[in-house]
Amino acid sequence: MSRRRQIYEGKAKVIFEGPEPGTLVQYFKDDATAFNNKKKGTITGKGVINNRISEYLMTKIGEMGVPTHFLRRLNMREQLVKEVEIIPLEIVVRNVAAGSLAQRLGLPEGRPLPRSILEYYYKSDELNDPMVSEEHVTCFGWATPQELDEIVAMSLRINDFLSGLFFGVGIRLIDFKLEFGRHYNNDDVRIVLADEISPDNCRLWDLRTNEKLDKDRFRRDLGNVAEAYQEVARRLGILPESGPVDVEGPKAIQ
Ligand code: UDP
Repeated sequence: MSRRRQIYEGKAKVIFEGPEPGTLVQYFKDDATAFNNKKKGTITGKGVINNRISEYLMTKIGEMGVPTHFLRRLNMREQLVKEVEIIPLEIVVRNVAAGSLAQRLGLPEGRPLPRSILEYYYKSDELNDPMVSEEHVTCFGWATPQELDEIVAMSLRINDFLSGLFFGVGIRLIDFKLEFGRHYNNDDVRIVLADEISPDNCRLWDLRTNEKLDKDRFRRDLGNVAEAYQEVARRLGILPESGPVDVEGPKAIQ
């Protein structure tokens, strides 16, 4: 870690300069925060699991045809990614009412939505990530209308893909948050999926029991947080019993 120049430290990750120009290293911490930093804690081993889960999901999403910033995992806690200009938006995709949507609109948690919903939040810790509309996004130039069209199309494809992938291992994808960036390659600019996808930014419920397998266990003091993250990794077939040779891939439930 110390050999590299630190570029940015976020709540769950540290970003370092990468080994080649145009690359960065994402280091996954065990730190957890919730409610705009009001609740802080450590989930032992979370960084290692999220590194693996995000590697797996980003790789699959890339193979499915949506470009991502992911290049390769370097070690237990670090992955190499393409350097991108982060678009200052959090894109939340929802399939089932939960969290802030359930609260804001008085919906029971767990009610399936008639169709998937996309929401935009402006990334700003000082402002507590306010929800914004498409009008705000284009008016303030956070993304052009063309970029936003692409982000919406990519988010919906990712939602369909991940919903199916998780369904196959007995998990319901309730909602999740995505971030995108601009990747500059000579004269070419391309929108790519960035950040991470892990139980830190997805709501994942067991299909049969509705048990929460995500950060809500931390937010709501439900206990067994690391165990829940491990269970997600185990079901995806990426938590080897005895080292990387043991990885079998996802296990479909009957
Ligand atoms: N989310 C996130 N980062 C945020 C806010 C939300 O990763 O800063 C994720 C969260 O884990 C959930 C989804 O986005 O899967 C929707 O979150 P919600 O708006 O319900 O907010 P919450 O009440 O969880 O803060």
